[in-house]
Amino acid sequence: MKRDGMLDLNDALQHPGRVIAVDISTEMPGEEDINLTEPVEGFLEAVSTGNQLMVKGEFKTRCTLQCARCGGPLEQDLKFEISEDFSVAGVPSMYAQDDFARIVSEEDFPLFEENNLIVEALIHQGLLINLPQAPLCAYGWDGDCPEARNIPKQRSEQAHPLESLSELLDPEESP
Ligand SMILES: [Zn+2]
Repeated sequence: MKRDGMLDLNDALQHPGRVIAVDISTEMPGEEDINLTEPVEGFLEAVSTGNQLMVKGEFKTRCTLQCARCGGPLEQDLKFEISEDFSVAGVPSMYAQDDFARIVSEEDFPLFEENNLIVEALIHQGLLINLPQAPLCAYGWDGDCPEARNIPKQRSEQAHPLESLSELLDPEESP
């Protein structure tokens, strides 16, 4: 059923209501945007209504990110869900002698070759969507991070609140 990273979804497409469920484990050999330290593992389920194919899945992996404050390396678990609907054209072959259902490809970034899901392309998309936007190392935004000491904090550029307070008080408080 699965060859060269392709998952043939004809069984679901030609038999609306039939569920295809597969366990997935991939090293994501072509992954260039995200530094994975463990294989991506999880499962995919696909079922067709006749004119829509619904693909759902859950995955977990581990990846190295960059701390948003200090740029230091940061290894994190990553768990994500996939839930995508794809339009289907044609009549499923269980209802027609001379036709069959096919995925309508709409994406700029192709996820299908004919009725074969390119599993790693779908997982790649799921990874990108679910990456933390501003991951932080153990020091967080305020901790005494050795890497971040030389990076000025936005907050410290403002005057200390007590300075402006003493300016207000000074003229009145002279004895
Ligand atoms: Zn950091």
